Amino acid sequence: MIVLKIGGTSVGSLERVREAAAIAAAQPAPRAVVVSAASGVTNLLLEAGRQAASGDRGGMSATVATIVEKHETMLDGLPNGPDRTDTANRIEDLHTALELNLADVAVAGDFSTRLSDRIVATGEKVMSLLMAATLRAAGHPAEAVFADRVIGTDSRFGSARPDRDRTREQADAIVRPILDEGKTVVMTGFIGGAPDGSTTTLGRGGSDYSATLLGAALHADEVQIWTDVPGVLSADPRLVPDAREVPQLGFEEAQELAHFGAKVLHPRTIRPAVALDIPVRILSTFAPHEPGTRVTRESSSDELKAVTIMKDLILLTVDVPELEDLSGAASAVFGALYEDRTEVVLAAQASSRRRMTYLIEGANYGGCNRVSSRLEEVLCDYEVEIGCTEDVAVLAAVGQGAADQTRALSRMLGVLQREGVPVLASNQQVSNVAMVAAIPQRFADRGLLAIHDEFIGSRPSGSKLRRQRRSRLMSEAVQVG
Ligand code: ADP
Ligand code: ASP
Ligand code: MG
Repeated sequence: MIVLKIGGTSVGSLERVREAAAIAAAQPAPRAVVVSAASGVTNLLLEAGRQAASGDRGGMSATVATIVEKHETMLDGLPNGPDRTDTANRIEDLHTALELNLADVAVAGDFSTRLSDRIVATGEKVMSLLMAATLRAAGHPAEAVFADRVIGTDSRFGSARPDRDRTREQADAIVRPILDEGKTVVMTGFIGGAPDGSTTTLGRGGSDYSATLLGAALHADEVQIWTDVPGVLSADPRLVPDAREVPQLGFEEAQELAHFGAKVLHPRTIRPAVALDIPVRILSTFAPHEPGTRVTRESSSDELKAVTIMKDLILLTVDVPELEDLSGAASAVFGALYEDRTEVVLAAQASSRRRMTYLIEGANYGGCNRVSSRLEEVLCDYEVEIGCTEDVAVLAAVGQGAADQTRALSRMLGVLQREGVPVLASNQQVSNVAMVAAIPQRFADRGLLAIHDEFIGSRPSGSKLRRQRRSRLMSEAVQVG
């Protein structure tokens, strides 16, 4: 069986939903489609929640009206008949529930992550109904399924972790019988269900992850991630206009790229595919016949394949004078970061100065003020010196085989030095799949361009025609998204 995930940028209008439905219908059955909300809708839902919490009722009503109008315009494109009436009623129910949930937020004066997850789920739920109805209108039996009944998670609202066993059981009980009836399942991406049944989300961009979780639960033969670019590119095309398609990646390479911020894949997407060895393909709905990127166990070459940049990080250093205290201090640091649900992007230790270095996500953490005082609190029994730098970016150059050549790291650092980019920390990952360098954020774009140019840009590229076609496709994608 095949699982296809259709991203928000590919379902921005009913015309685009129809094109995506045709792509899905062209795949062999059994097949499940995982859908995101139409692009922009998740942000609008979050905006409405914030407006509700701050008492801005006028702003909230206007935001809700924009969401409802967008969905109704799409609904209007469905052919008249009982199926459309039924779909319209179900979408109206979702909009009514949205307003009730926003009223709860307004009363509480607080936009809790629990309510936020319930509210943002509206976008994916509406899209699953629209996509299923579109498939049926084209003559393909289809049924929408809300993933809060399928993807089992913990209760970490906003960034829930999946429960694989519960997901497998629920997928067998709910999704498989629909597939066995010969129908296409259209499941909401992004959302899951906590043990008590409340709706959770897997973090922004989480629909990619939903697709591989469902694929693993159903032992899919392939998971396809359909988006607005013709596969994983050698860099973010918005930052590096010369970026080119990467035809093949090993699981570890794709994982490193996603971990270090390549938005095309949610950071945890690849993990469920690894254990069952399920190939993942990244393809473009704007160019469905392009080969895209195939992610499989083995890496196809020993070249550096892609570079990526992750911004808004905090660089934390903890100097511990007594060697024997090092592991105790490290455990206190990790404990505090874990309690605060802060992602650690990189951790390293230099023994000579007893220095521990951490790169952590800063956006939700309140910056150095908060992190330093929090660490002073948990490290009060140690004689430590804490250093903290904000606005840090990490550059990663990914490619199995290339990254483990010692020369490659020095070449990378040499390029940064030539470009006048200061390096705050650097590391050759133990897995030897990625080389990373932490740099001040203001040098991020310059550093990325220079590294891409050095390792990838100078290689002979595909035909000029192919590149021209890709830039045309990408500019179309930008207009629609
Ligand atoms: P979707 O709505 O389909 O999930 P996203 O916007 O989440 O789409 O992800 C696709 C976008 O990721 C692309 O349009 C591109 O701008 C961005 N991107 C960042 N890094 C890369 C990369 N290395 N390769 C391809 N796309 C990338
Ligand atoms: N709609 C969600 C988001 O915008 C999930 C996704 O698109 O993958 O983050
Ligand atoms: Mg995405």
